[in-house]
Amino acid sequence: MFAYNGKILFVNLSTGEIEPRELDESLYRQFIGCLGLGIRIIYENTKPGFDPLGPDSMLGFSVGPLTGSGLHGARFAITGKSPMTGGWGDANCGGSFAVYFKNAGYDGVFFTGISEKPVYLFIKNGVAELRDASHLWGKDVYQTEEAIKQELEDSRVRICSIGPPGERLAYCAAVMHDQSAAGRSGLAAVMGSKRLKAFVVQGSNKVPVADPERLAQLRKTFLQGVKNVQHPWGQALRDYGTPIFFDALIPPGSTPIKNFAVQGEEAFPDYALCKADEFMKYRTRRHACLGCPIACKGWLELKDSKYGSISGTIPEYETITMFGSDCLVSDLAAVVKANDLCNQYGLDTIEVGATVAFAIECYENGLIDDKDTGGIELKWGNADALVAVVEKIARREGFGDVLADGVKVAADRIGKGSEKYAMHSGGQALPAHDPRGDVGLGWGYCCDATPGRHTANHVKHSHDCKVAFTLSDRLNFPDLDPLDVDANAGINAVCSAVDRVITSAGLCFFAMWTEQLPLIEAIAAVTGWDFTLEECIKTGRRIDALRQAFNIREGVDTTEWKMPERVAAVPTDGPMKGKKLQFDRMKLKGYEAMGWDPKTGKPLASTIDELGLRELVDDL
Ligand code: SF4
Repeated sequence: MFAYNGKILFVNLSTGEIEPRELDESLYRQFIGCLGLGIRIIYENTKPGFDPLGPDSMLGFSVGPLTGSGLHGARFAITGKSPMTGGWGDANCGGSFAVYFKNAGYDGVFFTGISEKPVYLFIKNGVAELRDASHLWGKDVYQTEEAIKQELEDSRVRICSIGPPGERLAYCAAVMHDQSAAGRSGLAAVMGSKRLKAFVVQGSNKVPVADPERLAQLRKTFLQGVKNVQHPWGQALRDYGTPIFFDALIPPGSTPIKNFAVQGEEAFPDYALCKADEFMKYRTRRHACLGCPIACKGWLELKDSKYGSISGTIPEYETITMFGSDCLVSDLAAVVKANDLCNQYGLDTIEVGATVAFAIECYENGLIDDKDTGGIELKWGNADALVAVVEKIARREGFGDVLADGVKVAADRIGKGSEKYAMHSGGQALPAHDPRGDVGLGWGYCCDATPGRHTANHVKHSHDCKVAFTLSDRLNFPDLDPLDVDANAGINAVCSAVDRVITSAGLCFFAMWTEQLPLIEAIAAVTGWDFTLEECIKTGRRIDALRQAFNIREGVDTTEWKMPERVAAVPTDGPMKGKKLQFDRMKLKGYEAMGWDPKTGKPLASTIDELGLRELVDDL
């Protein structure tokens, strides 16, 4: 077997038992890796109805066949049952962890049980050990990373860890690595419930690939493509990173403003103060996930701001939007500070930003007052209040405790009709994309097994992209009105499937804007399989169907997931005036196109059989 280690680890944190298990190549071929491997292993090895924060809950970390290929990025997946939705949860993260993880000798690690005392798992070149982390419990992410490097006497180990919010089971928490977050689905709370403080890897055993010459050739062509990228988003991403999306998406109305209430430049002229160029003034260097030629990330240093001097990562588009325009905050220093607090404590900036915007709206409408907030004046645009409340959430302190489990739970706690201000789907906050402007993502908000995601269903988000997945097998879609739900359903289902394979292979979906991603050829080159576009689509559909089957098995009725009223409405003003998106029909047609029952969301028996899932999915 090429491109894989061929084995995973099961770690029972209740007993301390660590059990390696070899996997058959056919399993990898059916599910590829990363989140595909995660759903395959977790579906089989958990019993229906388990508590996501209980001992039977399984939490996976996994990599893919293109991890370490040097092709484009190196993302790993974290998978498990989401305490936010009660159904399937996955999240992914870049950096360099994935490559070191794979070189350490395993394709995945799956944790069950609950440790008596805090621990971390350390794997070095195939040898895995659980180590005491009692002295790390309560430390923030920066302190934890520093302490682990010191005690292992190795500054090059790669670390995923949680901070105090994860330890305290906050659904807003994120698993952090390299100041990047695997933030969605609330899986840091699952990690905290297991008293697993960190997962640390070190490895130097590069996994052989089937055809290194072909891979080198593909990489060369890909790198040339990146260098000469024509697509404007591809160029912009290279030059500025994701902050440029803020400049680009405010004018057409895709960027949420004031808790998704209004759209467009006129609704928030001060957005200019948080444009990409403003952040670039403080950029000290560009930064890339290991081996990525795009290098969309960056580090900044903000000296002597009113929140002190801050050095850290440049906030991503999602962060700038959720803390900026969504809260009507135009103070760059406050956005940088809130971002830094989230990196330091381990918080998902999307869920936290959405929850703060929600709380502001509650405050402005008299549903909560200074007594509830502990004296924080939660008004639109109040930069200091934003920073103060993020700190409270990080510590689960006072009003922060009300907000720490995300927007849906905060609305349940506050009551008084506040649900109408909670912008979520199925329990998870909507990210920084208004689905009326970014219709493809809207399709994902409705139809994906993990609702409200910005890194799932991205491929189809822009039909003008004419997404080119491979050098030889291009999927060129006809020009369609993105609002034409019926006409787009089939395309969206195909794109969703291919997106699932990109992510399962361990790549970053931003590669789509290079229009040169040799996905199919690269998988074939590293594995030696005669992998085709048809197999790719079928594989992605299989992963999608099993994620959805998990939801059904766990009793989640995904047909109940709705768009917030405000988001489902037709804007009467602004750049999206008159845009009508038929979310219910979108879901209906989406389910149909994916081979799921449009009325119940259950994958049809014929789909289960066609995708070879019958042994796993007996009866839904
Ligand atoms: S494009 Fe950005 S997020 Fe994606 S792999 Fe490259 S550096 Fe990482």
